[in-house]
Amino acid sequence: MSNIAANIAAVQERLANALQRAGRRHDDARLLAVSKTFPADAVQEAYAAGLRCFGENRVQELCDKAPKLPADCEWHLIGHLQQNKVRPALEHARWLHAVDSVALAQRIQRLAGDLSVAPTLLLEVNISGEESKFGLAPGAVEAVLTALQGGPGCCRGLMTVAPLHASERELHAVFAGLRTLRDQLVARTGMALPELSMGMSGDMDIAVAEGATIVRIGTAIFGRR
Ligand SMILES: *Cc1c(COP(=O)(O)O)cnc(C)c1O
Repeated sequence: MSNIAANIAAVQERLANALQRAGRRHDDARLLAVSKTFPADAVQEAYAAGLRCFGENRVQELCDKAPKLPADCEWHLIGHLQQNKVRPALEHARWLHAVDSVALAQRIQRLAGDLSVAPTLLLEVNISGEESKFGLAPGAVEAVLTALQGGPGCCRGLMTVAPLHASERELHAVFAGLRTLRDQLVARTGMALPELSMGMSGDMDIAVAEGATIVRIGTAIFGRR
């Protein structure tokens, strides 16, 4: 077995164990393999090991890499999206995880209409309130949900990135904060927001305990960047 295949097996076992400990179904969270900085060959190895969902954080890298992989890969753009990169992002990514303004939301819906695509969208929320970080303040999320309504793109939930070097307690608080915000928005708007994209190589177990439905795993699959 290649390193990457062995790493995937280990991560899948870790995910299954975290779901079981949380009393959740074994298929209640999916693994998104974050291939940023790694070449198409590495993604091909992960593909051969059975993975189909891959995440990139930069549009240019997504556009370079995606055409080199089989067409049944599902690409997720997980990084900050600039307005002038929406079109190429929509040409390659089925999911956008980091919608973080009304203007961006409107542009995505307009260009998705032009391109006849129906992306799945997640809103990035800055739960921890770090100043250096992208993402909506919790109080600004509902306006973006409203701006997305009626377009071809469908908002399915929320995404967050936890602070680096946070304690376990802080991580629980951040991930629980995203879940609680989602629950409040569902209660207020009646929208279905089933997806919580949270958890990376270092903190996926805690994210799963707090309800993650997508974990974004780079290092634990592909190695150090
Ligand atoms: C790089 C990245 C990840 C993966 O991080 P690892 O610690 O390598 O698992 C997850 N989410 C986002 C937004 C990223 O940019």
